[in-house]
Amino acid sequence: MRTIHQFIDGAAYTEAGGRLQDVFNPSTGAVQAQVSLGGSALVDRAVASAVKAQPAWAAVNPQRRARVMFEFKRLIEANMKELAELLSSEHGKVVSDSMGDIQRGLDVVEFACGIPHLMKGEFTDGAGPGIDVYSLRQPIGVAAGITPFNFPAMIPLWMLAPAIACGNAFILKPSERDPSVPIRLAELLIEAGLPPGVLNVIQGDKVVVDAILDHPAIKAVSFVGSSDIANYVYGRGAANGKRMQCMGGAKNHGIVMPDADLDQTVADIMGAAYGSAGERCMALPVVVPVGESTAEALRAKLIPAIEALRVGVSTDNDAHYGPVVTGQHKARIEGYIQMAIDEGSELVVDGRGFKLQGHEEGYFLGPTLFDHVKPGMKSYEDEIFGPVLQMVRASSADEAIELASKHQYGNGVAIFTRNGDAAREFAAKVEVGMVGINVPIPVPVSYYSFGGWKRSGFGDLNQYGMDGIRFYTRTKTVTARWPKGGAVSDQSFVIPTMR
Ligand code: NAD
Repeated sequence: MRTIHQFIDGAAYTEAGGRLQDVFNPSTGAVQAQVSLGGSALVDRAVASAVKAQPAWAAVNPQRRARVMFEFKRLIEANMKELAELLSSEHGKVVSDSMGDIQRGLDVVEFACGIPHLMKGEFTDGAGPGIDVYSLRQPIGVAAGITPFNFPAMIPLWMLAPAIACGNAFILKPSERDPSVPIRLAELLIEAGLPPGVLNVIQGDKVVVDAILDHPAIKAVSFVGSSDIANYVYGRGAANGKRMQCMGGAKNHGIVMPDADLDQTVADIMGAAYGSAGERCMALPVVVPVGESTAEALRAKLIPAIEALRVGVSTDNDAHYGPVVTGQHKARIEGYIQMAIDEGSELVVDGRGFKLQGHEEGYFLGPTLFDHVKPGMKSYEDEIFGPVLQMVRASSADEAIELASKHQYGNGVAIFTRNGDAAREFAAKVEVGMVGINVPIPVPVSYYSFGGWKRSGFGDLNQYGMDGIRFYTRTKTVTARWPKGGAVSDQSFVIPTMR
């Protein structure tokens, strides 16, 4: 059986006596590898390697650091197919979707190629007599990232590309459920010219996460995962004096106005609700039609569209989505479907019991649709993270905005309408971090930043874009005085002013 190791100092590293955890192929249900889970000694080793490598990397001029990023980009592109197939084999998403996962991470690598410009400071000439003021952006030192299973390429790249381009060393702790792609990315980055130790990948679970949060040499931690764990990680890391950014779970609403183009809206909802088996933090698992006639018309179009969806193995090019990540996660989703029935919502399409011929042990779930879902139901308030769409009927646009705004999560939201006024008002009012107007999955492009509100995000700075550069740098402000020829100030005992 293949063992997935750690990656330290530019090479695979095996920790003696480490625990092992099974890694499944979700399409077949078979164990295909085991990942070695590290402990605190592993974190110490990775940090020691990073601390040693970081100063020399920070001293490499930004243009040369950018060249490593350019080469990394080229290597990811050259290996795209291999990476996508590896990703699909552990995650279960179809290969075309894995390509999208990698491409959205690659976008952030491209952004990081601009690091000489992005790290420029500010300068004020003549802030006072003979006085100049300037600010520098300096790397923070050693930073760490803890990532979820659902985007095993994109989310590690969101973090490691800006962190490393800024001159930091980075320690990545990927999800133990699909740990191989992050290791391949680290190998490619070394091949691109990154000095060993600047990026270390350590595999593990809570034990490794806690050791990262308690390690004094790690100055900043970025986390993406579910909200309870994000909240815990944020609190423990911040209490230890680290800079923290922790992205959490989501329950994104798609508001359908009476004037929406329903055929286009239904096509968009299909991809956003069921693509990647609903395992996206920017999925659209709640649809809110405004008005009873919109609800009836939407429902009539959703049912045949759902029935036409093709569920298949991750290598099936014609499949709309593949299996969910593990048998345990499948059972959790089925539990929520039962809960939604027990809570009184109407089960319109039932995806349970779906079996794919020849892959009866795979973790497949058919698409599920509920109607007449109401706020307060636990199945509505919680994140299900599966191919389950819940319809909540609203009587007015204000009621729809309030639904999304009052929900505990505030990651993404979308409105489908032809009315510019309604869309503008919606974007201005809704209490959610990322808004789509006729765009079902409004993941910001790499030169903006990604982050949700409320229980979808803990901390001040978002992922990538300029917030990513701010997160991985510290600002130093220098006030310099070069007085003209020998004049001695008599103001030594008062706070300096810029007269
Ligand atoms: P998860 O919270 O189970 O795991 C995330 C990371 O935390 C993993 O690396 C895991 O090893 C670690 N971890 C797990 N349990 C821990 C514990 N008790 N203590 C410390 N660390 C622990 O999340 P997941 O199931 O891998 O990913 C899905 C979740 O991530 C969903 O809630 C989804 O919405 C969220 N997500 C959010 C975003 C975002 O940007 N807001 C993006 C992608 C996914």
